[in-house]
Amino acid sequence: MATYFLSDLHLKPERLDLAIAFGQFLATTATDAERIYLLGDLFEYWIGDDAAQTIGAAPVLEAMKVASQHTECFFIAGNRDFLTGAQFERESGFKILADETVIDLYGTPTLLLHGDSLCTDDHAHMAFREEVVTNEERKRDFLQLSIPERIEQAQVARAESGNHKASVSMEIMDVTLKAVEQAFEKYSVAQMIHGHTHRQHIHSHKNDCTRYVLGDWNTTSSILVATADDLEINNQAIQT
Ligand code: MN
Repeated sequence: MATYFLSDLHLKPERLDLAIAFGQFLATTATDAERIYLLGDLFEYWIGDDAAQTIGAAPVLEAMKVASQHTECFFIAGNRDFLTGAQFERESGFKILADETVIDLYGTPTLLLHGDSLCTDDHAHMAFREEVVTNEERKRDFLQLSIPERIEQAQVARAESGNHKASVSMEIMDVTLKAVEQAFEKYSVAQMIHGHTHRQHIHSHKNDCTRYVLGDWNTTSSILVATADDLEINNQAIQT
């Protein structure tokens, strides 16, 4: 029995190969899973649960629903799919957990998070988190717009985010060490798993703390497999 962690698939209509690879993971590897955790940015964008059909996400939700019938499945939203809500939960069968949730992973308390909250040197992104991602009123207002209006606004936001990424240095886009150490301390854990930066790596930190960073799905998948004895990150080529 194993527990699987994935993040940053960035599913979008132009990358059906990724949705197919995710579907295959759910229908094959994951059938013996004890639990599955998705740690955010499953979708490139999410403009509301009622727009799932419009953005072509319905088949993905159906595949998730099937997996959830034999496995406990959980979802932490990322900075791109933070508008997932109760309808998404029902239709996917994945239970939404708060960003920064501590679980018991085979006896080891483990902090799960998307990872963008650790990028404290990226001031523009921190402002976006504050003003949009964690702003319930603003989210409610956005979800009251028509679907075409939401699509339009999301396109503007993505264009801005693209400009931002091109203009800040790679160090700023990564987590800051201080934020990582503070998170270990705040939650009294020695193990953490996150995505967001797309920099797959297993980091050792002070006080025997370990941080597992998942990669994105592009040319390969990135899946952390945890068993009672071992944690490892596996990559498999995405079939195009
Ligand atoms: Mn992200």
